Amino acid sequence: MIDLRPSGLLVVLSSPSGAGKSTLSRQLLASDPRFRLSVSATTRPARPGEVEAKDYFFVSEQQFDGMISSGDMLEHARVFGNRYGTPKAPVEQALNDGQDVLFDVDWQGAQQLRASSLGHSVVQIFVLPPSISALEGRLRGRAQDSDEVIDGRMAKAKPEISHWAEYDYVLINDDVGVCYSQLETIVKAERLKRVRQTGLGAFVSGLNDEFDAR
Ligand code: ADP
Ligand code: 5GP
Repeated sequence: MIDLRPSGLLVVLSSPSGAGKSTLSRQLLASDPRFRLSVSATTRPARPGEVEAKDYFFVSEQQFDGMISSGDMLEHARVFGNRYGTPKAPVEQALNDGQDVLFDVDWQGAQQLRASSLGHSVVQIFVLPPSISALEGRLRGRAQDSDEVIDGRMAKAKPEISHWAEYDYVLINDDVGVCYSQLETIVKAERLKRVRQTGLGAFVSGLNDEFDAR
């Protein structure tokens, strides 16, 4: 079997909080060993159950500023009053190791990743809820945040959704099984793109050599 390994994908998932990014990410990471999660740095406090270096690198404002000034962040933004950013080195390491990387970042992060030196590898996917009442129901059902925090997230949902058309793909997360299989389809198709198939030029040269030898 001919195996032309695709070059690394940087898959960005954005959505209003509660639309289902984390659920879809967990499923993709569990079922596709080629993916690694980009663990962001944040100045927000850890929620109960969140694990340092697995969910986030929890850092101070000073540490965050230090990472920016030493050029260690691929992108960074302020979201819900806290700061979030993507450390550059693990992403570069993953690509060198032949891995794909999954990012859970907001629209500002998606824009900056697209504009970065790694932008050619970026695939941007926006996840919409089936309705605003379902979005609110999911945020309340997740039972992770206070009413005040949930109200804040609902207030930010409209401006976040306003960026939907900047993305390569938009998924409506109504039935999570259907939505996940659409995500898998996107990944499969992106890996098959001509520009991502390293070794295709050499393979076609081989075909031409075979023609010439006839
Ligand atoms: P996000 O990461 O976008 O903030 P989550 O993945 O944490 O969202 O999902 C928010 C809540 O909604 C979670 O409790 C999750 O189990 C639930 N959820 C996710 N997708 C669906 C779906 N398609 N239908 C019903 N509930 C869902
Ligand atoms: P939460 O506090 O719920 O974990 O995340 C809040 C928001 O911050 C989400 O929209 C999430 O996508 C975004 N976010 C998380 N990490 C990053 C990051 O590294 N960069 C940017 N730009 N946004 C992030």
